[in-house]
Amino acid sequence: MFGRKNVIELKKPEQFERMRAAGLVVADTLRLLRESVTPGMTTADLDAIARESISSAGATPSFLNYHGFPAVICTSVNDEIVHGIPGQRVIEPGDVVSIDCGAIVDGWHGDAAISVVVGDATPEVDQLLDVTETALWRGIAKACVGGRLSDIGHAVESHVRASGDFGIVEEYVGHGIGSSMHMDPSVPNYGQPGHGPKLVAGMALAIEPMVNLGGRHTKMLDDEWTVVTVDGRWSAHFEHTVAITADGPWVTTAHDGGAERLAALGVPTPA
Ligand code: MG
Ligand code: MG
Repeated sequence: MFGRKNVIELKKPEQFERMRAAGLVVADTLRLLRESVTPGMTTADLDAIARESISSAGATPSFLNYHGFPAVICTSVNDEIVHGIPGQRVIEPGDVVSIDCGAIVDGWHGDAAISVVVGDATPEVDQLLDVTETALWRGIAKACVGGRLSDIGHAVESHVRASGDFGIVEEYVGHGIGSSMHMDPSVPNYGQPGHGPKLVAGMALAIEPMVNLGGRHTKMLDDEWTVVTVDGRWSAHFEHTVAITADGPWVTTAHDGGAERLAALGVPTPA
């Protein structure tokens, strides 16, 4: 819309507090799902657990009915990258299950995702998950006042490239978040540093690398939601919602606000 393009919503501290409340609902739900997932369950079983977790916290699931999405979480298994629909698929030993979860408290959003291996992982799958999650934290570490937006994607890409021959998904990216789940700006997981909007206190971003064991290319299944790798190789997805404050990144969807992982990277976080 004329005059409205590329406006990035800036949050007041009390609005960040509501985003933190939503983020903790997401963090609790993902922790519960990580503890619950076992072979023999269906992805619909996971969805039911998430539905109960979010509603018992007094929050609203962001994904349910979002553009017609029929479930509370996305469950993407093995070669599925993102946006898988929970259903009757039975989880098998060794599967990688990527779980994406969003919740709303008082109109403010939290959005996060984890990938978990159910049972024993092969070394290459172990590495895929570690590389993807570490790349996420490298990106979060750049969500600091004074930086530029593309510093985040550059940090994500640099870690993945330095770790091996992985594919970084380009068609699906992170996003601004706050009073809606998906807002400006887009947050790619690649690129050169020093470009894009300056990062200022009050911005909130969902950072979410999707990394494949094979090539980067994707296709959508006939359900018009599930995104899979073209080559059938497996994929991982980790995401956090990050509030940019004058005192550093505040990871609203991490129980400790990101303090431990960011301290290890030398980045201060709000007290
Ligand atoms: Mg998400
Ligand atoms: Mg997201």
